[in-house]
Amino acid sequence: MKILCYDLETQPTLAYVWSAWKQNVAPIQVVDHGKVITWSAKWVGEKKIYFGAEWDMKEGDFIERLHSMMDEADAVLTYNGDGFDQKVLNTELMKRRLPPCAPAKSIDMYKVVKQRFRLFHSRMETVAEALGLEGKTETGGFELWKGVMEGDKKARNLMEKYNKQDIVVLENIYHELKGWIKNHPTDGSVGACPNCGGHHFQRRGVHRTKVNVYQRYQCQDCGSWHRERLAEKVDKPHKVSL
Ligand SMILES: [Zn+2]
Repeated sequence: MKILCYDLETQPTLAYVWSAWKQNVAPIQVVDHGKVITWSAKWVGEKKIYFGAEWDMKEGDFIERLHSMMDEADAVLTYNGDGFDQKVLNTELMKRRLPPCAPAKSIDMYKVVKQRFRLFHSRMETVAEALGLEGKTETGGFELWKGVMEGDKKARNLMEKYNKQDIVVLENIYHELKGWIKNHPTDGSVGACPNCGGHHFQRRGVHRTKVNVYQRYQCQDCGSWHRERLAEKVDKPHKVSL
């Protein structure tokens, strides 16, 4: 399975406003719409971190570069990609009249965290902290975005560092929490753990349905639970003739 881990950074909408509070911004007040300014991506299990920025056109349009990587992916790994990144990227594709990316399964760790745990926050930073993992790069807040929008070189370099660190944290969280992901996409290879591709299983109990009994396993590499696809042969109770 080729799993592409990615993260987008966006800039806010620039608009004329009348006051600091409770603003309704009409379309005519908008000077510049929010958009993607950088992305960072990485194939799970590989070392290289790819990066694209709006201001770096050396290798062509930065969104097109990400688009072609997405086309090669069997699954995409994100933190809130279903709610944010995927739609934001789609919007950039639409603006460029590019077709949708090849269908890939989504592994959204934000959804996994929301569904399976109860943390004070479900932000990536909080999860990393709970796991004792190295966290995000300090941005210094909005100043960084302002600097990037104004073309400041130092700000752009920091944005690159921040964006790249985000997917390192995300991949680490993914590896730590793999056993908690329900319905992890699988390449269908027989006898391998669908979560991690591992081959170390321990038989642990059985899974019962109303009509069948299945052998149950726990993957010793990632901790996820599985059951045999085929039911075990169970001795049918003797028929009692009345
Ligand atoms: Zn596993």
